[in-house]
Amino acid sequence: MKTLDLAVIGSGIGGTLISSLNKEKDLILFERDSNLGGCASTFKRYGNLYNAGATTFVGYEKNHPVKDIFDKAGFIPDIKKSEIAIRVLQNNKVLDRVKDFETFLENLNKVYPHKNNRIFWEKIKEVDEKFWELKKLHYAKYSLDSYKKTASSVLELFSVFGFDLIKNANNYINETLINISKEYKEFIDAQLLITLQTKAEGISLLSLCIGLAYPFHDVFYSNGGMGAIFDGLLEDINVHKNEEIKKIIKEQNSYKILSNKNEYSSKNIILNSSIYNSSILFEDENIKKYYDKFSFSNQSAFVIYLTLDSKDVKKDFLHHYQIILKNEIPNSISNSFFVSFSSKDDNKLSQNGYSVTISTHTKALFWKDLNNQEYKEQKKITEDFIINHFLENFETIKKEDIIKKFSATSKTFKRYINRYNCGGRAITLKNILQTPSCNTPFKGLYNIGDTVFAGQGWPGIAIGVQTLNKELNAKC
Ligand SMILES: Cc1cc2nc3c(=O)[nH]c(=O)nc-3n(C[C@H](O)[C@H](O)[C@H](O)COP(=O)(O)OP(=O)(O)OC[C@H]3O[C@@H](n4cnc5c(N)ncnc54)[C@H](O)[C@@H]3O)c2cc1C
Repeated sequence: MKTLDLAVIGSGIGGTLISSLNKEKDLILFERDSNLGGCASTFKRYGNLYNAGATTFVGYEKNHPVKDIFDKAGFIPDIKKSEIAIRVLQNNKVLDRVKDFETFLENLNKVYPHKNNRIFWEKIKEVDEKFWELKKLHYAKYSLDSYKKTASSVLELFSVFGFDLIKNANNYINETLINISKEYKEFIDAQLLITLQTKAEGISLLSLCIGLAYPFHDVFYSNGGMGAIFDGLLEDINVHKNEEIKKIIKEQNSYKILSNKNEYSSKNIILNSSIYNSSILFEDENIKKYYDKFSFSNQSAFVIYLTLDSKDVKKDFLHHYQIILKNEIPNSISNSFFVSFSSKDDNKLSQNGYSVTISTHTKALFWKDLNNQEYKEQKKITEDFIINHFLENFETIKKEDIIKKFSATSKTFKRYINRYNCGGRAITLKNILQTPSCNTPFKGLYNIGDTVFAGQGWPGIAIGVQTLNKELNAKC
């Protein structure tokens, strides 16, 4: 059996981006599912295409890790800009999150007037811009060289941001937006929940700025579904779809890999499986212990997929909306949901009508622990509640326009992409040092994805991929 340079396990954003940067190596990428992209994949059901989770593509701009990686990989995605990144609907109010700062501020002052709005949002934009200009961002452990790079990154962070780095986000909100209304605060928290997986409580000012500034970047729609980006990036890479890695055995200078189909050997392994699901792959006690020490992040997604009759629906839709309700959604941890429509001119996704992905946040273990009957009942309660509010907020859509409707919970994510949890543990002031790094104490074993540094979504994972690429190629 020949020994590979690199085996990548999982074709999520992390596994795909790192493979695309290392395609000159003797590499195989294993994906257990039939679709590439994990939480950001596109799948077919009832003859229609749906985005499984991720629908916004951000970071394809100059000097951004996402664009840098795509350029190095030599791949240009088929995308189009969403001029209004997200339309927020809350209590009959409408706020368009657009990139242009003055237009956004004008919109904001109509909906959430506050005398310090300019001061608050200028700071958000300024800190975010400085963050994406950092040159030394790095977080890795277990070797002198890794610690040195991490220390140098921390120094850069402190010299650029100073006290802002550790300042509490909620304190900043309360000090600047004095007597902020409940509605305005709920808007801020709802936006953070989609970008950072957490509300303002406990996070730093730096995280607040990165989370809220997301729509100040270009937000793109991926033609043909988000999955099309993965198909493109992995076109000339040896990908084994429908092949699940079951066991990894540490040997002297390599790893033996057992899949549901075959046996392989590789010098290096990159796990794109969630950090909480990796222990089960190993027999080596030390490796098991290493993975077991990361406490599970009990957060996941509830997602509804719709096909809407596009002939009878009069209006065109924006790509993305966030609906903020007065009360919490049943079985969720949020009072908001995110709605993405396929573009009418997308001849793949909109072939049989609009393809709609609606998502909200839930506890991961809640769904796992229900018996079959309860599961069905609770799923229906959550689905009906969201659909009713969806129809209330889109008056041009009638119930009869919904041609197909089905939903996914943490159990569904587990079935298809092997994870109950969705999104990583948000980096807060308390847990920052426990954040898993891309490297491990074991030679040749690495992690990538949204459960390790630097976090979730295209931008966060791309930072992690750049860090991993430096670690990997310093040692290979
Ligand atoms: C509902 C929802 C909406 C979101 N919206 C956005 C958005 O609009 N924009 C954005 O940027 N981000 C969004 N995110 C976040 C983003 O989708 C995720 O952070 C990201 O896709 C996770 O990528 P990952 O690299 O961690 O891999 P994952 O997506 O976790 O993929 C891992 C892959 O590994 C495979 N795998 C696991 N174990 C094995 C094994 N043993 N053998 C073989 N294969 C294996 C899985 O099948 C899977 O394909 C959203 C997430 C969710 C859940």
